[in-house]
Amino acid sequence: GSATPPNCLPEGKLIVLTGPSGVGKGTLVRALLERHPELYFSVSVTTRAPRPGEIHGKQYYFVSRSEFQQMIEQNKLLEWAEFAGNYYGTPRDTVLEQISKGKCVLLEIELEGARQICQSYPEAKRIFIMPPSLAELEHRLRGRGQDSPDAIARRLQRAKDEISAADEFDIQIVNDDFETALDAITSTVFSFCGNASK
Ligand code: 5GP
Repeated sequence: GSATPPNCLPEGKLIVLTGPSGVGKGTLVRALLERHPELYFSVSVTTRAPRPGEIHGKQYYFVSRSEFQQMIEQNKLLEWAEFAGNYYGTPRDTVLEQISKGKCVLLEIELEGARQICQSYPEAKRIFIMPPSLAELEHRLRGRGQDSPDAIARRLQRAKDEISAADEFDIQIVNDDFETALDAITSTVFSFCGNASK
């Protein structure tokens, strides 16, 4: 008989949100989830230190480098990447479990991870959030005051690389006016997820 291919997502749907650091992805995703709690947000694993106010299990699972390494070796990550000196990855089991339950699952990840998902799950919908301009992005990164000048410089360089890959995504949404961007993301998610998100 014909077995179900391992990478088939029969019930729920997978949405990948990518965009340069500082573009406001986090705020957009939080607003989307507040309005649509039926969506499932995948909490990533990271070796980055928690920022003030971040809670283990909420924004991220904060782990050591050796714990992260172990998760890679045990194939526990759906995708992972190095970003500005730290590792970030998506827990495989939780995501696949939610999808098999029919949930619409949201990943908020950087470019390399988005590319890996595209390889393994070509049916995933990929959204790229664009800043109005690089100058505006730099302004936001500095204004956030959460990262060292060195980290900001690395994030800006990475931002330029990511923006030049924006056309690999199904849709590009500019985060200039917040409500306009949120509406665009919402309608993209719901037209893709249909019943899975209800
Ligand atoms: P931050 O340190 O600002 O929270 O995140 C840095 C970057 O890592 C952001 O672009 C964010 O989208 C990305 N990121 C967060 N979680 C993951 C993940 O699980 N996998 C990948 N590939 N990137 C992630």
